[in-house]
Formats: sequence, C-alpha cells, structure tokens
Amino acid sequence: MENQYDVIFIGSGPGGYSGAIRASQLGYKVAIVEKYTTLGGTCTNVGCIPAKALLDSTEHYHQAKEQFKTHGINLNGELALDFTQFIRRKAGVISQNTSGLIYLMKKNKIDVHQGLGSFLDSTHLTVSSGDKQAILTSKYFVIATGSKPSSIPGVIIDKKRIITSTESLSLTAQPKSMIIIGGGVIGVELASVYARIGTEVTIIEYTDSLIPTMDRELGKALYKSLVKLNIKILLSSKVQSASNLGEAASVKLLDKTGKEGIITAEYCLVAVGRSAYTDGLNLDKAGIQMEKNGKVFVNNQLQTNVSNIYAVGDVVHGPMLAHKAEDEGTFVAEVINGQKPHINYNLIPGVVYTWPEVASVGATEEQLRAQGVEYRTGKFPYSASARARASMDTDGFVKVLVSPKYGEILGVHIIGPRAADVIAQSVVAMEHEVTAKDMFRISYAHPTYSEALKDAYLIASGQGAINI
Ligand code: FAD
Ligand code: NAD
Repeated sequence: MENQYDVIFIGSGPGGYSGAIRASQLGYKVAIVEKYTTLGGTCTNVGCIPAKALLDSTEHYHQAKEQFKTHGINLNGELALDFTQFIRRKAGVISQNTSGLIYLMKKNKIDVHQGLGSFLDSTHLTVSSGDKQAILTSKYFVIATGSKPSSIPGVIIDKKRIITSTESLSLTAQPKSMIIIGGGVIGVELASVYARIGTEVTIIEYTDSLIPTMDRELGKALYKSLVKLNIKILLSSKVQSASNLGEAASVKLLDKTGKEGIITAEYCLVAVGRSAYTDGLNLDKAGIQMEKNGKVFVNNQLQTNVSNIYAVGDVVHGPMLAHKAEDEGTFVAEVINGQKPHINYNLIPGVVYTWPEVASVGATEEQLRAQGVEYRTGKFPYSASARARASMDTDGFVKVLVSPKYGEILGVHIIGPRAADVIAQSVVAMEHEVTAKDMFRISYAHPTYSEALKDAYLIASGQGAINI
C-alpha cells in the first residue's frame, strides 16, 4: 500500500538519513519526510559541510597571504579574494552532497516525502507542502528533526544585521567587521573563516575561556592561535543587548571588570548554542513527553514514552554532533530490528575545525580532578615534531591522560594540524581498552602528525619522548 510504511524518519539530517538507510538494509519499507526541498538537514545545508568548505577556502587564502613567501612561492603582490566565487564553491559542495543523498535514497528504495510532518496520532502523520497534503501510516516513527539556533535575552535575531551561522554562511559581500556572541564551536570556527580574509572579528564570550566545555588547556592554546589571526577576544564578558542600526549592528556589554561598553560592527553573529526543534510536529497529538529543556524525552533505547516512536540526534539529549546523530539513527534501526546495538557516549569525539584543529575524546583534566580520579599526563608539543616543522604547523600539542595503575587511557586532547583525523586512533584504542604502553609499542609512520601521540603515550608511561 502506497503510503503505508514500517518505519518513517521525520527529518533528513545525519540522524534521519543514516537511520533510514540502515532500516532499509534490514529489510523494512522506509520513508523520509523532510520539510525542505533538499536532503541532509542542518549538517549538509547550513552546518558541518558549508562551514568546512568556507574554512578550507579561507585557510588556503591565509596561507597564500602569510606563508607562501616563506615557502619560496611569490605571488608578486597579486592576491585577491573573489567573494562571490568563494560562496559559490561552497554552494557547489553542498549540492554535490545533497545529490549524493538523493542517489542513496533511490539506491536503498527509501521514499522521500517533501513537506512538514505533523502527527495526527501515534501511527499517522500528515505531510504538508503548499496546498498538497498526504497522510502516511507507519508501524514505527523516528523523530530526527534536529535543532535551531538559540538566542539570549536582549538579543533578537533579525537575520539581517543580527544573524545566525546560517546567514553567515551565505553573505553576499565580505563584511568589514563582525561581532560574534559566543566563543564556543560555531563562534571560533566562523571567527576563523572571516578573520582569515581580513574581516575585523570580535568574539564576546561569557565564560573565562574559549570552547569552555573542552579541556581548559585547549581553550588557552586556541586563544593564542586566534589572537595571531587578529581576532579580538573578550572573555568573561556579558552581552546585555544587540541592536540593528540599519547599516550596522551594535552590542551593549559588561566587560570582565563590570564596565559597560558598546561595540559596533557590520554584523552581529549570535552563536550561543542551539535548541531542539519540534515546531509543527504536533507531538502532543501522539502523546509524546518532552524534557524541561525542550528536548524529546527518550530512554536508553532512544524510545519515547510512546513505544513505537523513537527520537535521535540534536532533538534528544547529548552532544549536538552529526556523528552522534548518525550513530543514533543506525542504533534505532537496529533496536527496531530486535538487535542489541551499542553507543559509547563517553567516547564520542569532539572536533573544532579551526587551524590548528582541536580534537578531544574521553575525560578532561577538570573532570578527572573533580571525580578524584588519579591520572598521569603525557604532553608532547608540535614544535618538537619534524612533520609539523616541515609544514610550518608547530602550534599546539597532544595531551594524553592515563591511569597510573594499568595504563588505561582516560582522555586524549589535541590541538594541532589535522587533529580531527589524528584523534580517530585514540577513539579505537579507548573503545577496546588498549593501554598507553600498547599505544607506543605499535609502529607510527614517520614523519606524521600522529607520531606526537606516540611520544605523549611514552611520556605518560614514564619513558621519555623519542622524537626531536
Ligand atoms: P538536522 O541535521 O538538524 O536535520 C533535521 C532535519 O529535520 C532538517 O532538515 C529539518 O528541516 C527537518 N525537519 C524538522 N522538523 C520537521 C518536520 N516537522 N517535518 C519534516 N522535516 C522536519 N556537527 C559535527 O559533528 N561536525 C561539524 O563540523 C559540525 N559543524 C556544524 C556547523 C554549524 C554552522 C552548525 C550549525 C552545526 C554543525 N554541527 C556539526 C552540528 C550538526 O549539524 C548537527 O549535530 C546535526 O546536523 C544534527 O543532525 P540531526 O539529524 O539530528 O538534525
Ligand atoms: P556552544 O555551546 O558550543 O557554544 C556557545 C558559547 O556561547 C559557549 O561558549 C557559551 O559560554 C557562550 N555563551 C552563552 N551565552 C552567552 C552570552 N550571553 N554571552 C556570551 N557568550 C555566551 O554552541 P554553538 O557554538 O552555538 O554551537 C551549537 C552546537 O552546534 C554545538 O552543540 C556544537 O556541538 C554544534 N557544532 C559543532 C561543530 C563541530 O563539531 N565542529 C561546529 C559547529 C557547531
């Protein structure tokens, strides 16, 4: 029957599309409902992928401007950014990915219904798009509707001068200046994008550190790297309000001494976190319970209080990360199939795509201290890495936290070149309880950025480093 399914995923972000593919592989009749005309959700359209595309372009520009001369490459003063092409290339990267998703849906025989999904009851969903409306029936539903940007009191996002990450990824001209409220992941990534091409960027962060939820040493080191890009960083500063002045935006704040100040820039980007998105879903018609913070309540099987309805990704508790959403989408498909899948929430890596990149897995030093857990630290700087010297990427370090008793790896924190990729090996090691000694006894290709890990594990195990 045409509109009758085994499993319907509402939302086509990483949670929705990965779950739909897994459910189809397991033999179910599957549909995806997506309110936008392109698949891929926040991550593909206005998140991970476009942000990384702009980060890559601006890193090339920055290197050409600042480092080429040292490499002996002379541009004879001819360097210019074509902002329109810069944004157009990003749009091209997005469409390659969204087209790839259409292909994957077809290949896996997943029906795509474009429109806003709203529950009629726990087994029926209406899908509305313009004048068109369809009613779908399913044995199981998976809510994968993601998140939207949050704001703070006194700051109204008008998407013109007071913008979110979404608008900042599609500006039509290079801004001369930008204030960013929030020194978290979005704040530091987009500050990097714009500062590298010459925009005057000011970050206003409420706490006393950038990326404050990660190991504190990472925030300190990142601060130094971002200052080198001429980013002005105001820590321990409280934003009181923001105003659209027509051609500019102004922000009123209390600085760390409690002094009031006003700063003005072409745009004010609000990056103070995101909240679960459930507008229009009519969750009450299906009888679904929510948490106080607006997230959909789920148990450890990601099942809501209504037994045939599950929820995954940004709309439920846990870190708002694409790979977490993807893992949960797959998890739910397997749970529905009667399998016993597993997600280790302690070992979901967190990455920040600045340069140097920042990557982390497991416990931070602050968490271990708070829990009274004994640990040894092995720290190795990239300034001592031959590979990093060759590429002029000597900022940063690898820090491993290891239990003194058995050499269990408790946490790994990296700021340095390609940290996003280097962290993967430690995730495998921690998941399979490989010890610090095992980690330095395996062979690391030379010269690589990952060798810094070997030295950090050697130091944490009481031996000296072997690299210079
Ligand atoms: P989403 O990707 O948000 O998808 C939800 C989908 O549901 C959307 O397409 C929405 O239109 C649709 N939808 C909502 N309601 C309905 C409805 N009622 N009916 C039909 N459809 C509906 N994470 C990383 O891991 N790495 C990164 O590098 C990274 N970079 C980011 C950069 C930025 C600028 C931003 C904003 C986020 C970034 N993230 C990153 C976070 C990542 O994008 C999210 O964690 C991820 O997209 C969550 O996936 P999801 O499937 O839960 O939801
Ligand atoms: P975030 O939680 O990472 O950072 C928000 C920052 O804003 C925090 O540092 C917080 O202290 C600060 N803040 C809060 N209120 C403030 C105020 N009144 N004044 C000044 N600062 C204030 O949130 P985000 O950067 O908006 O990102 C949202 C989500 O998107 C995150 O959960 C993140 O995981 C995800 N994301 C991930 C990546 C990645 O994985 N590379 C990239 C971008 C976004």
